[in-house]
Amino acid sequence: MILSLINVQGVVLKDISLGETDKIITVFTDKLGKIDIVAHGARRPKSPIASSTLPFCYSRFLVYKGKNLYTLRQSSIIESFQRIIMDLNKLAYGSYFLELIDILNEKEVKNVYMLGVLLKTLYLLYHDDIDLDIIKLTFEYKVLSFAGFQPIVNSCIKCKRRNNLKYFSIKDGGIFCSDCVNFNNDFFELKNEEINFLNKIRNIKIEELRNIKYDRRLVENLSVIMEKYVSYHVERQIKSLNLIKDLKGVDGYGRNNS
Ligand SMILES: [Zn+2]
Repeated sequence: MILSLINVQGVVLKDISLGETDKIITVFTDKLGKIDIVAHGARRPKSPIASSTLPFCYSRFLVYKGKNLYTLRQSSIIESFQRIIMDLNKLAYGSYFLELIDILNEKEVKNVYMLGVLLKTLYLLYHDDIDLDIIKLTFEYKVLSFAGFQPIVNSCIKCKRRNNLKYFSIKDGGIFCSDCVNFNNDFFELKNEEINFLNKIRNIKIEELRNIKYDRRLVENLSVIMEKYVSYHVERQIKSLNLIKDLKGVDGYGRNNS
C-alpha cells in the first residue's frame, strides 16, 4: 500500500496517553487545521519524536491519514516554547490560549490567521515579560474575531453611529449608543477610554503589545467583560481558566512575577 504522506507545521495543543508508550496529540496545523495524530513510541524518553510532540511545541510533522486519525512518521522542532512551562503564571495563561484554540476550532478546518495569532502570542509569552492580562485580552479579541464572534466596538451595532457609544452587550456582540440601548437587557456601561482601548486592541498587531501603554485597572475591567464574552460564545467551561483564577487569588492580579 502506498501511503500519501503530508508535511504540516503546527502547534501541539494537547496530548493524551495511549497504551504503554504511545500518545495521541492534537495539533493546530497550517495545512489541515486541527487534527489528531497518533505518535507511536512518543512517550519513550529516548524516542526521536518525544521532544517535538509536547504541548506548546511548534513542530514540523510528516503524517499520513488512516481511517479516523493521522499517524506520525517523523517530526522535528521549529520552536519548543518549553520555557513557558517553567513559569507557573505563563503556563496557566499559555494553557488557556491552547485550550481556547482547541475549543474554537472544528477538526480539519484550516484557519491560518488564528494559527498566526497563536504563534505570535506564544513568542511574546516566551521571550518577553509583558503583563499577561493584556496579552490575554488581546488574544481573546483576536481569536474570537477569527472564529466569527468579533465584538463590534467601533460603531453602534444598531444605528452604526460612531459617537455616544456606551453600552456593551455580550449577547448582541457589541456596543450600543445611548439612543439604541434597551435598558431591559443586560449590558456593561463602558467609559470612553475603555471603548477607545477596545478599538486599540482591535487594530493592534500582537507583537505591538511590547510598546503599548495602558491603565492597569482599565485592563482588569475589560478582562472581566471579555472573559464573560468568551464563555458566552464557546458555551462550555474552560478548565485552564480556573488555574489563572487560582493564581490571581494568590498573587493579586496574576501578573507575571518572574
Ligand atoms: Zn445607536
